[in-house]
Amino acid sequence: MHLVEQYRFMMIGAHPDDMELRCGGLALRLRQKGHRVLFLSMTDGGAGHHRMTRTELVRRRSEEVQAAARTLDIEYRIMPIADGRLEPSLDARDMLIREIRQYAPHVIMTHRIVDYHPDHRACGQLVMDCAYMVNVPLYCPAVPCPPQPPVFLSVWDRFSRRDPFSPDVVVPIDDLVERKIDAALCHVSQFYEWLPHVEGWKDVGEAPSFAEKTALLRAQLRSRFSAEARLYPERMPAGCRYAETFEWNEYGAALTGELRRAMTEIPGE
Ligand SMILES: [Zn+2]
Repeated sequence: MHLVEQYRFMMIGAHPDDMELRCGGLALRLRQKGHRVLFLSMTDGGAGHHRMTRTELVRRRSEEVQAAARTLDIEYRIMPIADGRLEPSLDARDMLIREIRQYAPHVIMTHRIVDYHPDHRACGQLVMDCAYMVNVPLYCPAVPCPPQPPVFLSVWDRFSRRDPFSPDVVVPIDDLVERKIDAALCHVSQFYEWLPHVEGWKDVGEAPSFAEKTALLRAQLRSRFSAEARLYPERMPAGCRYAETFEWNEYGAALTGELRRAMTEIPGE
């Protein structure tokens, strides 16, 4: 029997919840097939609330991350950098290089540098800054270079003025979208409290019970998660309503056919 290699995927977001929204379906697909998945949040998430203190929020978000990790059956780490204050500094780059080398991922995903949030842009820049340097042995020599240079992919975003997103990999997730929503909604402080406040989601904010808020949020997330299939219909398999899309970054390694199949093929089809 041909044993397929177990691949390691590392999804690097600026905040706890970013990668749930962009790669939650892919994470579930990869775990179905026995590949390893690590989500890394570059910041502690301690800025996104209107009533809690930073200390309370950091503790709460770390518990939410553990719930999301259980739902997706993945590993999850949070870097000790304050939310809202991420910069593409040498210190942050060196921390990230060490994380990447220790995990030695085959594929790394992150934000693009065209994004509304300064932490997302800094995170995208930091990961790009690592794409070459991670393979340079005399840079941070205490941790050895990974055995294979990683592939770098960008997660989808809706920003189109400066550099329209171009999907190179399409991952259909119709069968996984409800569990992806379960994982996103583990971030109660965000979806039930902070985002309704800051984004003006009046219906969710004013819904009288947790169950009614949940129903509204699930409908809203289904609509959000169908955006990529609606935007790139020519790239979708027939009948696909929900997909996650990724753009290949030419600073890293080439995406092999095996890796692409690990991401895109639905078991049993
Ligand atoms: Zn974010």
